[in-house]
Amino acid sequence: MKRIIAPLFLLLCVQVSAQKKTAEADAKMNQFVSALMQKMTVDEKIGQLNLPGAGDIVTGQASNSDIGKKIRDGHVGGLFNIKGVDKIREVQRVAVEQTRLKIPMIFGMDVIHGYQTTFPIPLALACTWDMNLIEQSARIAATEASADGIGWTFSPMVDICRDPRWGRIAEGSGEDPFLGSEIAKAMVRGYQGNLNQDNNILSCVKHFALYGAAEAGRDYNTANMDRERMFNDYLPPFKAAVDAGVGSVMASFNDVEGVPATGNRFLLTDVLRKKWGFKGFVVSDYTGINEMIAHGMGNLQQVSALALNAGLDMDMVGEGFLTTLKKSLKEGKITQKQIDDACRLVLEAKYKLGLFNNPYKFCNKKRSETEIYTPEHIRAARTIAAESFVLLKNDNQLLPIKKTGTIALIGPLGNNRNNMAGTWSVATDFNKCISVKEGLEKAVGSKAQIIFAQGSNLMYDSVYQKNATMFGREIPWGDDAALLKEALDVAEKSDIIVAALGEASEMTGESSSRTDLDIPDAQKDLLKALLKTGKPVVLVLFTGRPLTIKWESEHVPAILNVWFGGSETGNAIADVLFGDVNPSGKLTTTFPQNVGQIPIYYAHKNTGRPVSKGTSFEKFTSNYLDVSNFPVYPFGYGLSYTSFSYGEVKLSNRNPRGNTSIRASITVTNTGTRTGKEVVQLYIRDMVASITRPVKELKGFQKIELGPGESREVTFQITPELLKFYKPAPDCNSMKYDWEPGEFQIMIGGNSAEVKMQTLDWKK
Ligand code: BGC
Repeated sequence: MKRIIAPLFLLLCVQVSAQKKTAEADAKMNQFVSALMQKMTVDEKIGQLNLPGAGDIVTGQASNSDIGKKIRDGHVGGLFNIKGVDKIREVQRVAVEQTRLKIPMIFGMDVIHGYQTTFPIPLALACTWDMNLIEQSARIAATEASADGIGWTFSPMVDICRDPRWGRIAEGSGEDPFLGSEIAKAMVRGYQGNLNQDNNILSCVKHFALYGAAEAGRDYNTANMDRERMFNDYLPPFKAAVDAGVGSVMASFNDVEGVPATGNRFLLTDVLRKKWGFKGFVVSDYTGINEMIAHGMGNLQQVSALALNAGLDMDMVGEGFLTTLKKSLKEGKITQKQIDDACRLVLEAKYKLGLFNNPYKFCNKKRSETEIYTPEHIRAARTIAAESFVLLKNDNQLLPIKKTGTIALIGPLGNNRNNMAGTWSVATDFNKCISVKEGLEKAVGSKAQIIFAQGSNLMYDSVYQKNATMFGREIPWGDDAALLKEALDVAEKSDIIVAALGEASEMTGESSSRTDLDIPDAQKDLLKALLKTGKPVVLVLFTGRPLTIKWESEHVPAILNVWFGGSETGNAIADVLFGDVNPSGKLTTTFPQNVGQIPIYYAHKNTGRPVSKGTSFEKFTSNYLDVSNFPVYPFGYGLSYTSFSYGEVKLSNRNPRGNTSIRASITVTNTGTRTGKEVVQLYIRDMVASITRPVKELKGFQKIELGPGESREVTFQITPELLKFYKPAPDCNSMKYDWEPGEFQIMIGGNSAEVKMQTLDWKK
């Protein structure tokens, strides 16, 4: 007994002492901020809530000019998308030397998937299912950004998305709230650490909330859903980020229950602060306050007051707060306390970052010269990119390719450095990115010959291509027939064809919604022509979303989905194509057969008329006349150069009672001849409940590595915590979060569609 009590007592003492320390630190911060605020005028307080953009990277209307004067007047709290340590130091110098109260500024940027060392787009990062690698990518991004003057990143983007028409699906981690929550925590940990070091930066989780549910996948569009779905599927990653201590939250552009999120009190105050206890500050998205005018919520003064009243603290770009809050205060539309509360939260963030101690904390020129794009960071980018690729098909083990003979590399994305890094490459040096051609050539050296042809335009429509290749990401435009002829000549000379096709970087991300998700027409025709040559064809598919590749899945022997892999894309592709790395990525979004199936996701409800398994069409059941309900590739899917087999699910207890824990185990065997990694996935279905529940939900995963012939028993601990769900409380004003006793299916497998299952009966 003593043996148990003594360590417990010690743990308790450690916890109490940590709590005491936090309380003391909070009291010190309060005292400091209160003393400062006593000296501040109303204008200066409102100034802290103003966040102009510096214009180095623009995603909307440019900020008002004359920022210098505004800073000197104390009318600016922070600046974002300003790039370069010297520039930032100079602006900070103005803030701390030329303003009345010498309050330092906070400098933000969209450091979304790396800084200069660019990692795969977030959707690809998620496909690694490796929380350590994801955290490491955020850590490296924070190290590089902070070395270049940045103390605040607008990341992670945790919007759940089940509609690949929406271009911004590229920026999140996919369709699943459980996986999304784990990733949200890993990213916040990676960016913020304990905020004490000079390479820890403040994180901003976004876009709160439901932005990923934009109707018809059209960017900035209305999102409409009931609270049951909102709380069970869309909000969990935000809550996870808040629980992990995220320092700030960005409100989304869309409306929620008829009120734009930027002015939505239910979201920003009732859920975020009261329910979840969020202690940081909330920033609007780019001109989000002003956009409420177009939403039909009133004029600039009214929408600015609406935002402050709702619980929004900082105004990005639009200057609605700066220009109208004082008037609203005089007219009694807002209170002094509301301004004070918002100002306090912004000042507290600066305090926590240590900017009052050292405003130049992130302006260390030496760090900017030695800690950005280091060999170590570049190595990590290469490893992580290779882990993010998903092998979708590999008939007759066409891959890996041998480093011999003549390899034809064909496609508009084959010899193109500027489309490798993906959306939000704010600090990427495109010239340093490794193209597919460069990666393959370096890998084979003199052992094999790589011959290249562009093969086609990105698409037949030159205007579309122009819009889809902006911001220095142009792809050369040529004569269709001449490009094809050259490609067929090159193909003729080769032993194998690698076709580098898909979306250009700018066809994905913000303001890049699409209604047709096929590989663009010109490239699809090229692919058909290449297949007709009779040579083996490997499709290396670039994309920021699940594309509709049913035809390709039926006709192309091997498909490697590489998303946008960041600065090291070409090297990482070579690593996987030649088998130096065995692919292990698994999809975190469902690949539909066609756009008409969207939204399609694995954790759907059953309906009252589910279609029988395996049928293509059944009258009076929930299905389509023209296609089955199945996707082309399901959530969790991905192949390896080796193969894995799963034993049966074993439960430590099939009749658990109350708040206990049981174990679910399964033996996984590597049945192939290579060492490989496998993501073992746990799904649970609640068979009977007081509200309808999904047919399965991801509740655990483990990525394991097995040598050839090796077996391992993989065990998941299951507690009632994993069975909980939200349902409207009887008064319908709040949500109840609990589990309900009864039968559960426990499923384990290598993807969401192929699982082994056992049932159990869990009583309260
Ligand atoms: C995007 C945000 C981004 C902001 C600042 C907006 O257009 O929606 O995700 O953080 O711009 O660049």
